[in-house]
Amino acid sequence: MTPTTSERHEFQAEVRQLLDLMIHSLYSHKDIFLRELISNASDALDKLRFEALTRPELQPPGELEIRLEAEPDVRSLSVWDNGIGMSRDEIVENIGTIARSGTKEFLAKVGERQGQVPPELIGQFGVGFYSSFMVADRITLLTRKAGEATATRWESSGDGYELAEAERETAGTTVTLHLKPKDEEDGLRDYTDAHVLRDIVKKYSDFVGYPVRLKGETLNSMKAIWARPKEEVSEEQYREFYKHLTHDWNDPLEHVLVRVEGAVEARALLYIPSKAPLDLFMRDAHRGVQLYVKRVFIMDDWEALLPAWLRFVRGVVASDDLSLNVSREILQKDRQMQAIRKHLARRLLGALKDMPREKYQTFWPEFGAVLKEGLVGLDENQERILELVLAPSTHGALTSLAEYVGRMQEGQDAIYYMTSATQSAAERSPHLEAFRDKGFEVLFFTDPVDELWLRLDRQFQGKKLVSVAAAGVTPGAAAEEAPAVEEWQGLLDKLRALLQDHVKDVRLSSRLKESPACLVGEAGDLSPHLRELFKRSGQEMPLAKRTLELNPTHPVIARLRELHAAGKDDPRLALYADLLYGQALLAEGGVLPDPAGFSRRLAELMVAR
Ligand code: ADP
Repeated sequence: MTPTTSERHEFQAEVRQLLDLMIHSLYSHKDIFLRELISNASDALDKLRFEALTRPELQPPGELEIRLEAEPDVRSLSVWDNGIGMSRDEIVENIGTIARSGTKEFLAKVGERQGQVPPELIGQFGVGFYSSFMVADRITLLTRKAGEATATRWESSGDGYELAEAERETAGTTVTLHLKPKDEEDGLRDYTDAHVLRDIVKKYSDFVGYPVRLKGETLNSMKAIWARPKEEVSEEQYREFYKHLTHDWNDPLEHVLVRVEGAVEARALLYIPSKAPLDLFMRDAHRGVQLYVKRVFIMDDWEALLPAWLRFVRGVVASDDLSLNVSREILQKDRQMQAIRKHLARRLLGALKDMPREKYQTFWPEFGAVLKEGLVGLDENQERILELVLAPSTHGALTSLAEYVGRMQEGQDAIYYMTSATQSAAERSPHLEAFRDKGFEVLFFTDPVDELWLRLDRQFQGKKLVSVAAAGVTPGAAAEEAPAVEEWQGLLDKLRALLQDHVKDVRLSSRLKESPACLVGEAGDLSPHLRELFKRSGQEMPLAKRTLELNPTHPVIARLRELHAAGKDDPRLALYADLLYGQALLAEGGVLPDPAGFSRRLAELMVAR
């Protein structure tokens, strides 16, 4: 059969941009293209082996392997596998488009830097296959899907691509690179040289579970890195395995070797990345931890192996005790799997706790918000997670709750915090005044998830976590009612009547020092910040009316009382009440219900005598 129709296709715009990036990349470690191709071949072999469990006819006659074929005369290098292969449609989908969420964000970031992409950004995105364009002018991919009779040839020089029907003896994929000229200065080695290839495979792909062969010689040791004693594996090998597994070009922050023993035995090699992926908060976007049973790859869903609040963790879990012939759905509910899952979560939390503080401070800004999701539900690890929480405070940089407790003042019996959209808004809040005055430290929580877990009456080391914006909270006493002194009663009643549409109550407070008034909510009420978050996700939530607290020592409030005493129907009282309320809203970074009315009344006041 001679190749028939050859069709020309354009790349999706995102792919085009990525290819441009690759072709012009100044990335100096160009060798890694081979790691990416071998990693793809190894994944394809994993998929075939898994499929063959239920469809034995897919098993190829020979051994599953990866072959490197170099042809120095024509300057080409092929990576051959007898794995799962791709159908014509799959090529278009996998190679011609990028479905992964985060692409747009990634490219937007690239745009911001006028195309000057720092390597760690490219690496973070993991543009596997396309990295070959760093070393090749033209790439041909010949692939035949297991179980199908015909093959497809894909060819591209980085602009569009050609697709044609073709032949291949067995199922699998051959990627052929038509190499650029060698240029040591540009980091381009001679990738047809056996020494060079041997060196790269040893360095980046030694642990791959299938033989990687060059002219019959097996270049890799194939030892499962997670099953080897720590002493035998170098830091560099652990790092390279991470990159093979994740397509992340950055070094991981930490690796954790786990041995599960007892009713079910398993080994795991888990990694904490150093940078959060762009799609961290898109729940469905993750490929996380791979499960191998008897060295057969089963799945890579983190849901089965880790709780959602650890979804940033990557790695391998291997066990010979689980059954090979069960579906993913059954595995997820399996008791043994649950035991493994529990063990892994504990070990990871332990590793985070043991991390040197300086390193942990780099972890927290990347993944802290995800970890805190574990505080919202009914997870058994809540205490352990609380121990790991860091937050900035009125005392400065990130602090843990334990450190906070260690600094608590005489007479302080609670851990005080404030939630808001940004730290600078929190710092300006009138709610902090009395706490500052007393030298009581206040923690700032600014992640959306904080509102959710802090609503659930928290305690840490026997100390309550108390919001400084909650009703009745003053430093030193968790729930102290400010005494309503007799002489103020008339004014308070008047203001209550005037502001009844906006607030639930008006009372005096000792929490304020410099500000005349502030708004406070009951514990459990929806805060304005949380309401805003709901609104952004399309849900309108009613805002519970709050209480207006007044500072009786403030001249403005004293003046109001005088006005009221002189004539309780003075029309200026309504004007002042309104301004007071608006001012309290503004002070917490809130939005005025009627900004035009507010400024008109302010103007009236300025000309009044
Ligand atoms: P990634 O490997 O990070 O998903 P790539 O761009 O390297 O990204 O590959 C895209 C997809 O193309 C892979 O996910 C896989 O489905 C398919 N693919 C790549 N190489 C092969 C191969 N050798 N055999 C089968 N499928 C492959």
